[in-house]
Amino acid sequence: MNNSNYYIDKDILNKLLIPQERKKLLNEIFNKLELFNKSDFVELEYLEISDGKIPVLTINQPKSLDQLRKLYIMVASQHNEYCGLFGQISYLFELTSTKNKDLISNELKNSMIILFPLMNPYGFLNPRPDNKFGYYLKNGDNLNRYWRKTFIPNFREKDEDNNPYIIPENALVFKNFMQKYWERDLEIYLIDFHETSLFRRFTEDMVKNLNAFYKLEHYYKMWIVEYLVKRENLPKREPLFMKPHPDLDHHHFNITINQGEQLRDNLKEAWEKNNDKLPFAYIYNYKSGDFCRSIARNVQSKLKDLMWDIRQPAFLHPEDHGCFVCLGHSTRRPKTFTFELECDKQLFNLLEEIEKCKSNQVYFNKKIDNINKIIDIVRETIKAAVNLNF
Ligand SMILES: [Zn+2]
Ligand SMILES: [Zn+2]
Repeated sequence: MNNSNYYIDKDILNKLLIPQERKKLLNEIFNKLELFNKSDFVELEYLEISDGKIPVLTINQPKSLDQLRKLYIMVASQHNEYCGLFGQISYLFELTSTKNKDLISNELKNSMIILFPLMNPYGFLNPRPDNKFGYYLKNGDNLNRYWRKTFIPNFREKDEDNNPYIIPENALVFKNFMQKYWERDLEIYLIDFHETSLFRRFTEDMVKNLNAFYKLEHYYKMWIVEYLVKRENLPKREPLFMKPHPDLDHHHFNITINQGEQLRDNLKEAWEKNNDKLPFAYIYNYKSGDFCRSIARNVQSKLKDLMWDIRQPAFLHPEDHGCFVCLGHSTRRPKTFTFELECDKQLFNLLEEIEKCKSNQVYFNKKIDNINKIIDIVRETIKAAVNLNF
């Protein structure tokens, strides 16, 4: 790891783990953002909502918006995931310590960057078991189901016939802030940073329960198997997966009963050996595939010692719901490219994490290390996105 970059330390992780300390930590984070605000090409402001404030940092704002051709938006922490928050800080740290205003305006030319490092401040400050430790908004809503409705008037999601049509304040202030850019003829690239616990939970399930009849009902499970098979050179079966019937939406392994046990043992061994590497997935829609894939390949090859080496680092978004990725493919606004990055969830069950970190110093240190590795992935993703020429 490069020492001139920003990383978290044990003090930050301790404060993340203890809900009563989160307020202090947030103030320290805001103070940090204030420091970036002192740079003459970064501008910090806050979007006030009734249960908190959402920080926004604008980089390289042109004198007149008429000059603007490309806008890069980075969103993070809609849920209980903070690697996007710290990763954006890390990006700002590197940017402000290596560049000055002239360099920036020269290199970014007619582009500008807007960072939204903390979209759900209520969740950050109030991690409780009943809100999945800060996953949801105060009213229990999942913010990442509202973007399509927020930006496309009268859009109804297919599963919400009986639900009231109330858009969270977090989404409304974001939209208001974005409005003047959204209406202009310019390219908008939006990257949304998330974490998921599914990579680890699926793997743990597979190394325990896998057999010839194991059902692969989720794409991630197949990606995990492909990663481990490739990485450890496990005996290859072609094709590795098959559908029991073309109409069914899940796969099985293409193996015999005996091979099932063998594969499970092989996977278990491979998983234990590769526990240090970080699972991830870049997820795009029909419009953003080229943009997303080139970033994914770029970052994966740059950070190949940290990241899972999967055959395909980017995938088409599998569901149809109201997130930014789906907004990107549903909107009629031209030149709108959205994708998201899923990293490994760090604070899935806070109570469990507190216990593990308290009783096991190795685990605690490993957690800091993992968060810092994901910070690297986020920062490099932003760098790759913004520097790309089209
Ligand atoms: Zn998320
Ligand atoms: Zn989605």
